Amino acid sequence: MTESFDVAVVGGGPAGLSAALNLVRARRTVLLVDANRPRNSATLRSHGYLTRDGISPLELRRLGREELLAYEGATHWQTIATAVTVTADGFEVRCEQRGEVRTATARIVIAATGLHETLPALPSMRAWYGTALHSCMECDGWDKRDEPLALLGAHPDLAERALLLSQWSDDIVVFTGGAEVVTAAEEAGLTARGIRVERRAVRDVVGERGAMTGVELADGEVVPRTAGFVRPEWSPALEYLEPLSPRLDDDGLLVVDDHGRTSVDGLYAAGESTAPGPQQLIVAAGSGARIAAVVNRDLVGGLQDLPDAVQ
Ligand SMILES: Cc1cc2nc3c(=O)[nH]c(=O)nc-3n(C[C@H](O)[C@H](O)[C@H](O)COP(=O)(O)OP(=O)(O)OC[C@H]3O[C@@H](n4cnc5c(N)ncnc54)[C@H](O)[C@@H]3O)c2cc1C
Repeated sequence: MTESFDVAVVGGGPAGLSAALNLVRARRTVLLVDANRPRNSATLRSHGYLTRDGISPLELRRLGREELLAYEGATHWQTIATAVTVTADGFEVRCEQRGEVRTATARIVIAATGLHETLPALPSMRAWYGTALHSCMECDGWDKRDEPLALLGAHPDLAERALLLSQWSDDIVVFTGGAEVVTAAEEAGLTARGIRVERRAVRDVVGERGAMTGVELADGEVVPRTAGFVRPEWSPALEYLEPLSPRLDDDGLLVVDDHGRTSVDGLYAAGESTAPGPQQLIVAAGSGARIAAVVNRDLVGGLQDLPDAVQ
Protein backbone atom coordinates (compact mmCIF):
# COMPACT_ATOMS: atom_id res chain seq x y z
CA MET A 1 0.00 0.00 0.00
CA THR A 2 1.28 3.48 -0.84
CA GLU A 3 1.35 5.94 2.08
CA SER A 4 1.05 9.71 1.55
CA PHE A 5 3.01 12.48 3.26
CA ASP A 6 3.50 16.21 2.91
CA VAL A 7 7.26 15.76 2.68
CA ALA A 8 9.59 12.82 2.05
CA VAL A 9 13.13 13.38 3.29
CA VAL A 10 15.63 11.00 1.72
CA GLY A 11 18.72 10.57 3.92
CA GLY A 12 18.80 10.53 7.72
CA GLY A 13 22.13 12.16 8.49
CA PRO A 14 22.22 15.49 10.35
CA ALA A 15 20.83 17.37 7.31
CA GLY A 16 17.85 15.07 6.78
CA LEU A 17 17.08 14.60 10.49
CA SER A 18 17.16 18.33 11.12
CA ALA A 19 14.93 19.07 8.11
CA ALA A 20 12.46 16.39 9.21
CA LEU A 21 12.38 17.59 12.83
CA ASN A 22 11.66 21.18 11.87
CA LEU A 23 8.95 20.11 9.41
CA VAL A 24 7.02 17.92 11.87
CA ARG A 25 7.16 20.84 14.28
CA ALA A 26 5.53 22.89 11.51
CA ARG A 27 2.73 20.30 11.57
CA ARG A 28 3.77 18.61 8.33
CA THR A 29 3.58 14.86 7.92
CA VAL A 30 7.09 13.70 7.14
CA LEU A 31 8.55 10.42 5.94
CA LEU A 32 12.25 9.97 6.66
CA VAL A 33 13.80 7.35 4.38
CA ASP A 34 17.28 6.36 5.48
CA ALA A 35 19.70 3.58 4.60
CA ASN A 36 21.55 4.39 7.87
CA ARG A 37 25.05 4.28 6.42
CA PRO A 38 26.64 7.39 7.92
CA ARG A 39 29.64 8.75 6.04
CA ASN A 40 31.41 9.22 9.37
CA SER A 41 30.76 5.68 10.68
CA ALA A 42 34.50 4.89 10.31
CA THR A 43 35.19 7.09 13.32
CA LEU A 44 34.39 6.41 16.98
CA ARG A 45 33.91 10.01 18.04
CA SER A 46 32.51 13.10 16.30
CA HIS A 47 33.89 16.49 17.18
CA GLY A 48 32.81 20.10 17.00
CA TYR A 49 29.03 19.65 17.29
CA LEU A 50 27.95 22.13 19.96
CA THR A 51 26.88 20.33 23.18
CA ARG A 52 27.86 16.94 21.64
CA ASP A 53 31.63 17.27 21.17
CA GLY A 54 33.06 13.72 21.28
CA ILE A 55 29.77 11.86 20.74
CA SER A 56 29.77 8.67 18.62
CA PRO A 57 28.30 9.18 15.12
CA LEU A 58 25.66 6.49 15.64
CA GLU A 59 24.61 7.90 19.01
CA LEU A 60 24.12 11.37 17.50
CA ARG A 61 21.81 9.88 14.88
CA ARG A 62 19.98 7.74 17.44
CA LEU A 63 19.28 10.83 19.54
CA GLY A 64 18.11 12.69 16.42
CA ARG A 65 15.72 9.93 15.41
CA GLU A 66 14.38 9.66 18.96
CA GLU A 67 13.59 13.37 19.03
CA LEU A 68 11.97 13.24 15.59
CA LEU A 69 9.84 10.17 16.22
CA ALA A 70 8.38 11.67 19.40
CA TYR A 71 6.17 13.74 17.04
CA GLU A 72 3.07 12.07 15.65
CA GLY A 73 3.65 13.50 12.17
CA ALA A 74 6.94 11.62 11.80
CA THR A 75 7.46 8.26 10.08
CA HIS A 76 10.83 6.55 9.63
CA TRP A 77 11.62 3.82 7.12
CA GLN A 78 15.04 2.21 7.24
CA THR A 79 15.41 1.34 3.57
CA ILE A 80 17.01 2.59 0.35
CA ALA A 81 15.25 5.04 -1.97
CA THR A 82 15.73 3.65 -5.48
CA ALA A 83 13.64 6.03 -7.62
CA VAL A 84 11.75 9.29 -7.23
CA THR A 85 9.25 10.00 -10.02
CA VAL A 86 6.80 12.82 -10.71
CA THR A 87 3.06 12.27 -10.09
CA ALA A 88 0.02 14.50 -10.69
CA ASP A 89 0.39 16.25 -7.31
CA GLY A 90 3.99 15.66 -6.28
CA PHE A 91 6.27 12.65 -6.25
CA GLU A 92 6.34 8.93 -5.74
CA VAL A 93 9.29 7.61 -3.74
CA ARG A 94 10.12 3.97 -4.40
CA CYS A 95 12.23 2.18 -1.81
CA GLU A 96 13.71 -1.28 -1.79
CA GLN A 97 15.90 -3.22 0.60
CA ARG A 98 16.57 -6.97 0.59
CA GLY A 99 13.68 -7.53 -1.84
CA GLU A 100 11.15 -5.58 0.25
CA VAL A 101 9.58 -2.80 -1.85
CA ARG A 102 7.73 0.14 -0.28
CA THR A 103 6.34 3.23 -1.96
CA ALA A 104 5.16 6.58 -0.66
CA THR A 105 3.81 9.73 -2.24
CA ALA A 106 4.77 13.21 -1.10
CA ARG A 107 4.12 16.76 -2.26
CA ILE A 108 7.76 17.64 -1.64
CA VAL A 109 11.00 15.64 -1.62
CA ILE A 110 14.14 16.77 0.19
CA ALA A 111 17.33 15.05 -0.95
CA ALA A 112 19.81 14.75 1.93
CA THR A 113 21.81 11.69 0.97
CA GLY A 114 25.30 13.07 1.49
CA LEU A 115 28.43 11.81 -0.25
CA HIS A 116 30.34 8.62 -0.99
CA GLU A 117 34.08 8.63 -0.31
CA THR A 118 36.79 6.92 -2.34
CA LEU A 119 39.95 6.65 -0.27
CA PRO A 120 43.50 6.33 -1.65
CA ALA A 121 43.88 2.69 -2.76
CA LEU A 122 46.35 1.34 -0.17
CA PRO A 123 45.96 -2.16 1.36
CA SER A 124 45.61 -1.01 5.00
CA MET A 125 43.80 2.28 4.39
CA ARG A 126 40.44 1.10 5.77
CA ALA A 127 42.11 -0.30 8.89
CA TRP A 128 43.56 3.12 9.82
CA TYR A 129 40.76 5.36 8.55
CA GLY A 130 38.80 6.88 11.41
CA THR A 131 41.45 6.15 14.05
CA ALA A 132 44.96 7.17 12.88
CA LEU A 133 43.96 8.61 9.50
CA HIS A 134 41.19 11.14 8.97
CA SER A 135 39.93 13.38 6.18
CA CYS A 136 38.42 16.38 8.01
CA MET A 137 41.07 18.58 9.62
CA GLU A 138 38.52 20.81 11.35
CA CYS A 139 37.02 17.65 12.89
CA ASP A 140 40.14 15.72 13.92
CA GLY A 141 43.12 18.09 13.67
CA TRP A 142 42.94 18.94 17.37
CA ASP A 143 43.30 15.30 18.41
CA LYS A 144 46.41 14.88 16.25
CA ARG A 145 48.02 18.18 17.21
CA ASP A 146 51.83 18.29 17.34
CA GLU A 147 52.17 14.70 16.04
CA PRO A 148 54.37 13.72 13.07
CA LEU A 149 51.64 13.76 10.41
CA ALA A 150 51.25 12.33 6.91
CA LEU A 151 49.05 13.90 4.26
CA LEU A 152 48.13 11.43 1.52
CA GLY A 153 46.23 12.08 -1.69
CA ALA A 154 46.28 12.57 -5.42
CA HIS A 155 44.19 15.69 -5.85
CA PRO A 156 45.42 19.12 -7.01
CA ASP A 157 44.35 20.74 -3.73
CA LEU A 158 46.95 18.72 -1.76
CA ALA A 159 49.32 21.68 -1.24
CA GLU A 160 46.46 23.87 -0.03
CA ARG A 161 45.44 21.13 2.41
CA ALA A 162 49.03 20.79 3.66
CA LEU A 163 49.05 24.50 4.45
CA LEU A 164 45.84 24.13 6.44
CA LEU A 165 47.23 21.12 8.29
CA SER A 166 50.21 23.18 9.43
CA GLN A 167 47.81 24.84 11.89
CA TRP A 168 47.87 21.60 13.90
CA SER A 169 51.44 20.32 13.50
CA ASP A 170 54.81 21.60 12.31
CA ASP A 171 55.98 18.09 11.38
CA ILE A 172 54.19 17.23 8.13
CA VAL A 173 55.17 15.06 5.15
CA VAL A 174 52.98 15.26 2.04
CA PHE A 175 52.81 11.96 0.10
CA THR A 176 51.72 12.39 -3.50
CA GLY A 177 52.15 8.68 -4.26
CA GLY A 178 53.81 9.64 -7.53
CA ALA A 179 50.88 11.72 -8.84
CA GLU A 180 51.80 15.11 -10.33
CA VAL A 181 49.52 17.08 -8.05
CA VAL A 182 51.94 19.42 -6.26
CA THR A 183 53.63 21.92 -8.57
CA ALA A 184 57.28 22.93 -8.16
CA ALA A 185 56.17 26.39 -7.02
CA GLU A 186 53.83 24.88 -4.44
CA GLU A 187 56.59 22.56 -3.20
CA ALA A 188 58.92 25.53 -2.78
CA GLY A 189 56.25 27.32 -0.72
CA LEU A 190 55.64 24.26 1.43
CA THR A 191 59.38 23.70 1.96
CA ALA A 192 59.70 27.30 3.13
CA ARG A 193 57.14 26.46 5.80
CA GLY A 194 59.00 23.31 6.85
CA ILE A 195 56.65 20.88 5.06
CA ARG A 196 58.33 18.09 3.10
CA VAL A 197 56.88 16.74 -0.17
CA GLU A 198 57.57 13.04 -0.81
CA ARG A 199 56.93 12.14 -4.46
CA ARG A 200 57.86 8.44 -4.42
CA ALA A 201 55.12 5.79 -4.84
CA VAL A 202 53.49 4.66 -1.58
CA ARG A 203 53.04 0.95 -0.75
CA ASP A 204 51.00 1.13 2.46
CA VAL A 205 50.42 2.68 5.86
CA VAL A 206 52.06 0.54 8.53
CA GLY A 207 51.86 0.08 12.28
CA GLU A 208 52.29 -2.16 15.29
CA ARG A 209 49.76 -3.31 17.90
CA GLY A 210 47.07 -0.96 16.61
CA ALA A 211 49.30 2.12 16.48
CA MET A 212 50.35 3.68 13.18
CA THR A 213 54.14 3.90 12.87
CA GLY A 214 54.71 5.15 9.35
CA VAL A 215 54.12 5.33 5.63
CA GLU A 216 55.90 2.64 3.64
CA LEU A 217 57.18 3.66 0.21
CA ALA A 218 57.30 1.29 -2.77
CA ASP A 219 61.10 0.99 -2.39
CA GLY A 220 60.67 -0.33 1.16
CA GLU A 221 61.67 2.82 3.09
CA VAL A 222 59.32 3.63 5.97
CA VAL A 223 58.82 7.32 6.77
CA PRO A 224 57.95 7.43 10.50
CA ARG A 225 54.52 9.02 11.09
CA THR A 226 52.04 8.41 13.92
CA ALA A 227 48.89 9.77 12.27
CA GLY A 228 47.69 11.68 9.26
CA PHE A 229 45.05 12.91 6.89
CA VAL A 230 43.91 11.69 3.50
CA ARG A 231 42.28 13.52 0.66
CA PRO A 232 39.42 11.25 -0.52
CA GLU A 233 37.54 11.75 -3.78
CA TRP A 234 33.90 12.58 -3.04
CA SER A 235 30.86 11.72 -5.14
CA PRO A 236 27.17 12.28 -4.34
CA ALA A 237 24.78 9.33 -3.97
CA LEU A 238 22.01 10.50 -6.28
CA GLU A 239 21.05 7.51 -8.47
CA TYR A 240 17.47 7.58 -7.08
CA LEU A 241 16.97 11.05 -8.58
CA GLU A 242 17.88 10.03 -12.13
CA PRO A 243 14.21 9.92 -13.28
CA LEU A 244 13.94 13.63 -12.39
CA SER A 245 17.20 14.70 -14.12
CA PRO A 246 17.94 17.57 -11.71
CA ARG A 247 20.68 20.00 -12.65
CA LEU A 248 24.11 18.93 -11.32
CA ASP A 249 27.38 20.84 -11.20
CA ASP A 250 30.69 19.62 -12.63
CA ASP A 251 31.31 17.53 -9.49
CA GLY A 252 27.90 15.87 -9.80
CA LEU A 253 26.50 17.78 -6.81
CA LEU A 254 22.92 19.08 -6.85
CA VAL A 255 22.69 22.69 -7.96
CA VAL A 256 20.43 24.61 -5.56
CA ASP A 257 19.46 28.24 -5.10
CA ASP A 258 20.00 30.05 -1.78
CA HIS A 259 16.85 28.36 -0.45
CA GLY A 260 17.75 24.76 -1.27
CA ARG A 261 15.46 24.59 -4.32
CA THR A 262 16.79 22.39 -7.13
CA SER A 263 16.00 22.80 -10.82
CA VAL A 264 13.00 20.44 -10.35
CA ASP A 265 9.81 21.98 -8.93
CA GLY A 266 9.13 20.52 -5.48
CA LEU A 267 12.56 18.88 -5.13
CA TYR A 268 14.80 20.48 -2.49
CA ALA A 269 18.22 19.45 -1.22
CA ALA A 270 20.20 19.86 2.02
CA GLY A 271 23.57 18.87 3.41
CA GLU A 272 26.55 17.50 1.53
CA SER A 273 24.74 16.35 -1.62
CA THR A 274 24.67 20.02 -2.64
CA ALA A 275 27.65 22.25 -3.51
CA PRO A 276 30.21 22.75 -2.03
CA GLY A 277 30.12 19.10 -0.87
CA PRO A 278 31.97 18.02 2.30
CA GLN A 279 30.96 19.99 5.38
CA GLN A 280 30.67 19.29 9.09
CA LEU A 281 27.84 17.77 11.09
CA ILE A 282 26.59 21.03 12.52
CA VAL A 283 26.73 22.76 9.12
CA ALA A 284 24.72 19.93 7.54
CA ALA A 285 22.19 20.08 10.39
CA GLY A 286 21.91 23.86 9.96
CA SER A 287 21.30 23.45 6.25
CA GLY A 288 18.48 20.97 6.98
CA ALA A 289 16.78 23.42 9.34
CA ARG A 290 17.12 26.25 6.84
CA ILE A 291 15.62 24.25 3.99
CA ALA A 292 12.78 23.01 6.22
CA ALA A 293 11.68 26.61 6.84
CA VAL A 294 11.67 27.30 3.09
CA VAL A 295 9.70 24.12 2.33
CA ASN A 296 7.12 24.92 4.97
CA ARG A 297 6.69 28.45 3.65
CA ASP A 298 6.37 27.20 0.07
CA LEU A 299 3.72 24.67 1.13
CA VAL A 300 1.71 27.40 2.84
CA GLY A 301 1.39 29.06 -0.58
CA GLY A 302 0.68 32.71 -1.43
CA LEU A 303 -2.38 34.94 -1.16
CA GLN A 304 -2.88 34.48 -4.88
CA ASP A 305 -3.51 30.77 -4.18
CA LEU A 306 -6.67 31.51 -2.10
CA PRO A 307 -10.00 30.55 -3.67
CA ASP A 308 -11.78 33.46 -5.53
CA ALA A 309 -14.55 33.54 -2.88
CA VAL A 310 -12.28 34.86 -0.15
CA GLN A 311 -10.05 37.18 -2.21
C1 LIG B 1 35.49 9.54 8.89
C2 LIG B 1 34.72 10.84 9.03
C3 LIG B 1 34.76 11.52 10.24
C4 LIG B 1 34.05 12.71 10.37
N1 LIG B 1 34.10 13.34 11.58
C5 LIG B 1 33.40 14.47 11.74
C6 LIG B 1 33.45 15.15 13.00
O1 LIG B 1 34.14 14.73 13.93
N2 LIG B 1 32.74 16.31 13.13
C7 LIG B 1 31.99 16.81 12.09
O2 LIG B 1 31.37 17.86 12.28
N3 LIG B 1 31.93 16.18 10.90
C8 LIG B 1 32.60 15.02 10.71
N4 LIG B 1 32.55 14.40 9.50
C9 LIG B 1 31.73 14.98 8.43
C10 LIG B 1 30.25 14.58 8.65
O3 LIG B 1 30.15 13.16 8.73
C11 LIG B 1 29.40 15.12 7.51
O4 LIG B 1 29.60 16.52 7.41
C12 LIG B 1 27.90 14.87 7.73
O5 LIG B 1 27.67 13.52 8.03
C13 LIG B 1 27.09 15.29 6.50
O6 LIG B 1 25.75 15.14 6.80
P1 LIG B 1 24.65 14.80 5.68
O7 LIG B 1 23.36 14.72 6.43
O8 LIG B 1 24.73 15.74 4.54
O9 LIG B 1 25.05 13.38 5.08
P2 LIG B 1 25.31 11.98 5.81
O10 LIG B 1 25.61 12.13 7.24
O11 LIG B 1 26.30 11.28 4.95
O12 LIG B 1 23.91 11.25 5.70
C14 LIG B 1 23.39 10.80 4.49
C15 LIG B 1 22.45 9.64 4.78
O13 LIG B 1 21.74 9.32 3.58
C16 LIG B 1 21.64 7.92 3.49
N5 LIG B 1 21.41 7.56 2.09
C17 LIG B 1 22.24 7.70 1.03
N6 LIG B 1 21.61 7.28 -0.10
C18 LIG B 1 20.38 6.88 0.29
C19 LIG B 1 19.27 6.35 -0.41
N7 LIG B 1 19.29 6.17 -1.73
N8 LIG B 1 18.15 6.01 0.28
C20 LIG B 1 18.11 6.20 1.63
N9 LIG B 1 19.13 6.72 2.34
C21 LIG B 1 20.24 7.05 1.67
C22 LIG B 1 22.98 7.41 4.03
O14 LIG B 1 22.87 6.05 4.44
C23 LIG B 1 23.16 8.35 5.22
O15 LIG B 1 22.52 7.83 6.37
C24 LIG B 1 33.27 13.23 9.30
C25 LIG B 1 33.24 12.54 8.08
C26 LIG B 1 33.98 11.36 7.94
C27 LIG B 1 33.95 10.65 6.63
